[in-house]
Amino acid sequence: MLKRIIQFFRDLFQSPSPNVAVEPPDPVQSSDPPVLPEARKARTDVGQGMPFADLGLAPDVLKGLHEAGYVRCTPIQEKSLPITLQGKDIAAQAQTGSGKTAVFLVTIFQKLSQQEKLKDACHALILAPTRELALQIQADAELLGKYLPLRTVAIYGGVGYNAQIDALKRGAHVVIATPGRLIDLMKQGLFRPQDVSLLVIDEADRMLDMGFVKDLRYIMSKLPPYSRRQTMLFSATLSLRVLELTYQYMNVPEEVVVNPEQLVVETIHQELYHVGRPEKFSLFLGLLQREKPERALVFCNTKVQTSWVADRLVGNGYRARAITGDLPQARRIKLLERFKTGDIQILVATDVASRGLHVEDVTHVFNYDVPQDPEEFVHRIGRTARAGKEGRAITLCSEDDVYALENVEKLLGSKIPVVWAEDDLFVADKAKKKRTRRPPQKRKPGPRPQEARANKDAPAAPKRKRRPRKKKRKTEPAAKDGQ
Ligand code: AMP
Repeated sequence: MLKRIIQFFRDLFQSPSPNVAVEPPDPVQSSDPPVLPEARKARTDVGQGMPFADLGLAPDVLKGLHEAGYVRCTPIQEKSLPITLQGKDIAAQAQTGSGKTAVFLVTIFQKLSQQEKLKDACHALILAPTRELALQIQADAELLGKYLPLRTVAIYGGVGYNAQIDALKRGAHVVIATPGRLIDLMKQGLFRPQDVSLLVIDEADRMLDMGFVKDLRYIMSKLPPYSRRQTMLFSATLSLRVLELTYQYMNVPEEVVVNPEQLVVETIHQELYHVGRPEKFSLFLGLLQREKPERALVFCNTKVQTSWVADRLVGNGYRARAITGDLPQARRIKLLERFKTGDIQILVATDVASRGLHVEDVTHVFNYDVPQDPEEFVHRIGRTARAGKEGRAITLCSEDDVYALENVEKLLGSKIPVVWAEDDLFVADKAKKKRTRRPPQKRKPGPRPQEARANKDAPAAPKRKRRPRKKKRKTEPAAKDGQ
C-alpha cells in the first residue's frame, strides 16, 4: 500500500519524460495500410432522450448524425452536450456503450464548423489508449462527419510511419492518437500541436492503468494552455488519480456522471459456476454446448492460458482464436474483422488485448478466470449487452479464483447469482492429446480457499479429485484436463 502511495506521488510530481513511450510492444512493424473498421451502427434503442435537432447544431453536423441513424440522445449525450457545446470542459464518467464517442465528436464538429476559414492544421486531438479504439473513433468520425470538410487521421504504433506522416503533411484537422507514437512524431517535428483548441482524453483510467501518465503529461505540456483550449475527459471511473489529472490540466471541468451506482448494465444476465480446477474446461465445454453462443468473448488472466483455451476449443471443433497483446497489429485487426463477420465464433482474449475492442453483438462473455483487478471484470462483461441489447456473462470460479471473486463482488456491491452445474453439464474434452504448454498453476499465498471461506456465506468450490503425482513431470499434459 505504502509503495503504491509513494508511486502515486512520484508519478504526480515527476517532470514529463518524453523518453518513456510505453505502448505495448509490437514485434512486427508492418507497413500495411490502415484497415479502418466499420463504423458502428446507430441503435434506436439507446437514443431515447432529447432530439439532436434541439441542440442548435450546424445543418451539416445534424445531417451526418441523422443519416447515421442518430436521432435522439443517449443519457450521457443529453447531459454532456449542452455543457460541451458551450465550450466548457467536462470530466465524464461514461462506460463504453454509453454513446460517449458521439459526445466529443459532435462537439468537435460543431466547434470546427463554426470557424470561418479552417487552417490546415490539427485543431482537435483525441487521445485513446489503444490502436483499436483509435481506429474505431476514426471510423465513427468519418461516418458522423461525412458532410464536413474535415480530414481525420489515426496515429498509432505497431505499423509503418509513412502513411501517417503523409496524412499529417496533407493537413489533418482531427488527429486521433495513442500517446507513444504521437510523442514520437512530435519529437521529430512532424506533429505540431500549437493549433489544438479541442482535446479529448478517452478512457482516461485505462491510459493510467497502462502506464501512460508521463506521456499524457508530456503531450499536455506541449499543447496550448488549458485556458486556450477545451478539454473533454471520459473515464469508466472518476478515481482520485483521474481527478488529479483533470485538476492539473483542465479548466474547472464540470463532472458528468450517469448512473454512478449502476456499475454493471442491467441487461447483462450473470451466472457464476463454482468448479474444481481439473473440471473447469469440461464445464466450459458443456456451457458452450448449452448456450450455443453466436459471438462469444472468453477472458483468461494470462497469455499462456488464453492460447491454451483457444487451442483446446479448436480441438473440440469450435471456430475459436486467441488474441493477445503481443500479436502484430495487422493480425489483430484481421482477427477482429473475422470475429465481426462471424467467421470466428469465439475469441479468447487477455485483458490487455481486449482494451478498446469494439465489437457489437457479443452475445456472451465468459470469464474463464476471474480477473485480479475487479475493475477489469466490469470492463470485461461490459463487452456484451452493449447499447441496450441483452447479453450473458458467465463466470467460472475455481479454487484459484475465489480471492479475486471476493473483490469483484465487493466492487459490484452484490453477489453474482450462483448456479450449480449438474453432472450432465460436464462435456468430455475431445481435443487431441497433444502436448500443449499448460499454464503454470500457482496457488496464491495466504490461507487455502476452504479456510478463507470459513464463516463466509459464499458457497465453496467442489473438492478437487486428487491425481497421483508423476515423478519429474513439471507440467501436466494438457489433453488430460477435463476428461
Ligand atoms: P460508444 O459508447 O460511443 O462506444 O457507442 C455505443 C454504440 O451506440 C455505438 O454503436 C453507437 O453507434 C451507438 N450510439 C451512440 N449514440 C447513439 C444515439 N444517440 N442513437 C443511436 N445510436 C447511438
